[in-house]
Amino acid sequence: MKQLKARARLRSGAILMAALFAASSAVAFQVLPKVSDVDRKISTLGRNPVLDYLGHWFVGSAIPIMKSPVHESITLAAIGCGAGRGSEYDCVTINAVQEHRILLYGVRWPDDPPFLLNAKSPPRIKGCDVGVTLRSTSQPLCWWGLFKDAGAQAKTKSHLKAPAFGPGDYMLYRSHYGDLQFMHAMGAYDGETAGETVDRMKMWAEFLWGVASGTTPTGIFIRDLGHSNLASYFPGDITAMNLFATGIVEVRKDLDKVAMGALLHMVQDSFSQAHTERGQESGAQCGTTGFDKPGQIQRFRSYAKQSSTLHDEADTPSALGLHTTQISPSAVDVSRAFLTFWNEKKSWAEAGAFFDCVFEPKDRKIEADAGPYVAVPRTTASTDLSPQ
Ligand SMILES: [Zn+2]
Repeated sequence: MKQLKARARLRSGAILMAALFAASSAVAFQVLPKVSDVDRKISTLGRNPVLDYLGHWFVGSAIPIMKSPVHESITLAAIGCGAGRGSEYDCVTINAVQEHRILLYGVRWPDDPPFLLNAKSPPRIKGCDVGVTLRSTSQPLCWWGLFKDAGAQAKTKSHLKAPAFGPGDYMLYRSHYGDLQFMHAMGAYDGETAGETVDRMKMWAEFLWGVASGTTPTGIFIRDLGHSNLASYFPGDITAMNLFATGIVEVRKDLDKVAMGALLHMVQDSFSQAHTERGQESGAQCGTTGFDKPGQIQRFRSYAKQSSTLHDEADTPSALGLHTTQISPSAVDVSRAFLTFWNEKKSWAEAGAFFDCVFEPKDRKIEADAGPYVAVPRTTASTDLSPQ
């Protein structure tokens, strides 16, 4: 029985491998920042070592957001890697990634938050082991299966004027397709007003700033922090430590960096046209901060009816290069501004005023939509498989 299972595993692995190579023969090797090899190690201890071995390769090389370290490039450029405008991708070296790995874990966190699978009702998806914390690096095939399931379910709910997922659903579902899409500077559904989106983003930024500054306790339930709006998103027994570091022991003493990374992620996403439409920068400054004001927010986008292929084209290294060579302040400049505020230990009163300048919507009542990223109906099965 055991042998049969192992053989079946190997057979399905070989078929998968052949299919993946055929589909992605043009994909070049890329350096992928990882917090460490710890989650790779736990995947070898789980029930699906062969599938996960193949899955690492697949998730890391065929899924656009996982293979293109755009957020890492912006963050390392903002820290000051010395690469010129348009060459931020050169900042992603193994040394730089190792030096800033916790901050980069935080920058990646909104795309790939760690969480536990439901042991009582495990997902009926190949490669899922409830004994292993779910992350793209710990259970890649399960992660991909869940991601596709979230997308398929969200499509069936895309006509609703409400988020497709919320409290009680997996973080992966909520972050990419549900009520937590503000973490990516996006509306949670078609029709959410810019005022609602930006208020949620500010609520989130304030929480992150508290954790990043060490003023918000990370060991008490988020619902008990005295912020009712935030509590409504995290009504259960969940602390900031659980949120950011379930199963990832080695980042726990540096949750300040993780929170700062998550804040940078939202800032950076707000410069992607598939997430947020900004007008032209005016040349104005943000108060007396010495930092320039970025283009004003015209509207937020919503992912529900977007094509993930078209969405991802706005999030590639080339799109970033075009952005940083032509726009100032760019995603890199504004990331650097927030990092400067953080290093100078500014209060939320000061950082929040800067937030208002960076995220000022032109019209709070304007509603989120898919924009020019609407999926074109196809006759063949969809191959969309990319997170935002
Ligand atoms: Zn994002």
